[in-house]
Amino acid sequence: MEQLYQQLILDHAKHPQGKGLAEPFDAESFQVNPTCGDQVRLRVQLSTRSAEGTPGADGTPVIERVSWDGQGCSISQASVSVMTDLVTGSGVPEAEEIGQRFRDLMHARGKGLDEDAEDLLGDATAFTGVARYPARIKCALLGWMALRDALVQAGVAGASQEDS
Ligand code: ZN
Repeated sequence: MEQLYQQLILDHAKHPQGKGLAEPFDAESFQVNPTCGDQVRLRVQLSTRSAEGTPGADGTPVIERVSWDGQGCSISQASVSVMTDLVTGSGVPEAEEIGQRFRDLMHARGKGLDEDAEDLLGDATAFTGVARYPARIKCALLGWMALRDALVQAGVAGASQEDS
C-alpha cells in the first residue's frame, strides 16, 4: 500500500477512462500543474434524471458524463481517469464529497483515512502513498481541481470549499 506507483495507477495511465473531449457539455475547465508540466482539459455534462431511486430523482444535478484530454505524468493522468470512473453517474453533492475526501487523503501523508472515507474513495485509495511525496500531490489533485472548477462554472457547486 505504500508504493508510489500502484498497479491500478499504472493501468489507468495506460488505459485512461473518459479520455477524449466529448460534446455536448455544460462546462469546461483547463488546469495546469507547472511544477510537473501536467495539463488537463475537462468537460462535464450534467443531467437531471427523473427515474425513481436514482441520484437525480429529487432534482439534484447528476454528472452524466466526464470527458477530458491531457498530458503529463502517470499520476496526473491516472488520477483523472480514476476520478472519471468514480464520479460518473453520481449526484453533484456526492461527487463533491468524494472530491473533498480525496483532498483529505492527499493531506494524510500516506496514512490513509478511516474506513467510511476509503469506501467512498474506492479505487482512488490507490493514491494513498502519493501523499507521502509532496511534489506529487499536485499531480494527483489536478483532475479533481478541474472537476470542481467545471462544477462551479456550471453553477451547481459552491466555490468556497477549502483549496488544496
Ligand atoms: Zn505530474
